[in-house]
Amino acid sequence: MRPTKANVRLDAIVNNYRVAGQLAPASRSIAVIKSNAYGHGLVDVARALENEAPVFAVAFFDEAVQLRDAGIRKPVLVLQGASGAGDIAEAAAKDFWLLMHHQQQVEWVLSAVLDNPVTIWLKLESGMNRLGFLPQEIDQVYADLVSSTNVQAGMVLCTQLACADEPVSPVTTQQLSIMRSCAGKHKLAMSVANSAAIMNWPETHAEWNRPGYMLYGIDPCGSYSPDAFGLVPAMTLHSEIITIKELKVGEGTGYGLDWRAKVASVLGTVAIGYGDGYPRHAPSGTPVLVNGQRVPLVGRVSMDLISVDLTGLERVEVGNPVELWGKELSVNEVAAAAGTIGYEVLAGLTGRVPLVYA
Ligand SMILES: *Cc1c(COP(=O)(O)O)cnc(C)c1O
Repeated sequence: MRPTKANVRLDAIVNNYRVAGQLAPASRSIAVIKSNAYGHGLVDVARALENEAPVFAVAFFDEAVQLRDAGIRKPVLVLQGASGAGDIAEAAAKDFWLLMHHQQQVEWVLSAVLDNPVTIWLKLESGMNRLGFLPQEIDQVYADLVSSTNVQAGMVLCTQLACADEPVSPVTTQQLSIMRSCAGKHKLAMSVANSAAIMNWPETHAEWNRPGYMLYGIDPCGSYSPDAFGLVPAMTLHSEIITIKELKVGEGTGYGLDWRAKVASVLGTVAIGYGDGYPRHAPSGTPVLVNGQRVPLVGRVSMDLISVDLTGLERVEVGNPVELWGKELSVNEVAAAAGTIGYEVLAGLTGRVPLVYA
């Protein structure tokens, strides 16, 4: 069997969910498990958190359906809301909470024929300029929905912060003030904070918080050590050395032979590549752990393989363990080397990597 696999510690995800709650004791935390729970497995993560989280959040309707089909009973907030009139009745029947961000979605709700009312969240455009109604548009949308028998009482006003990962930001302060004035006007409960805001911006904590990335045990602000908050990285991506090569000075490795040996070198070939979601842009020098020791990646990342420089390491053999990221090597560090963020790397893990739960 191919040695490449991702070990996922569900107890770490439970621990991290509790950390999110401890940082915001007056708020309820919605576990954000979109994009296959950031690569950790949608249904398994939902099952692990079902006794902890009162509500789950996903990006799309289809992800919510997948959770119900798997037997998950908790409400599911669909962050992009309905994508057709038919979604409204299905949401009411299945207890999906729909975020409203454009007028057509409102009309679908008003004209639906429902057995029971649907739970609605209103998305406020407070400065990110991506999704949501402007404050002046909310007044009419709210008035239309609050008077409809199709809508469950107690709508929530929700917004997304553009700069929560910056510890000091006039943008966040301004978004929060727009949010508070709009929620105050209509006496709506609020939801503002994502992981970075939960950790950095206590003033953004509200009735509902929406932690995502931090549930997987990694710092959303990019640091390589999440320890300060008691987060535990949940995923460790493992592979093995499958061959060892000795190179003479001047010989190269990988496509284009971009990397060349400056001294007589020992290279290990590892059974992982961009076909697994290892970032193709990771350059020579990106850290990899072999037998727990940091060594540099060398040459271009291939679809199924990478090479690492083992020169000077003692007793490395075929079959020795390799960690690509996880407990001992932050995915944030690997992502930074590849010019991206850990979110993209985790969400990019492909279906050919088996997820092994512990
Ligand atoms: C993805 C997402 C979150 C979670 O963000 P993290 O940075 O992963 O904590 C929260 N709210 C919305 C609207 C999202 O799309």
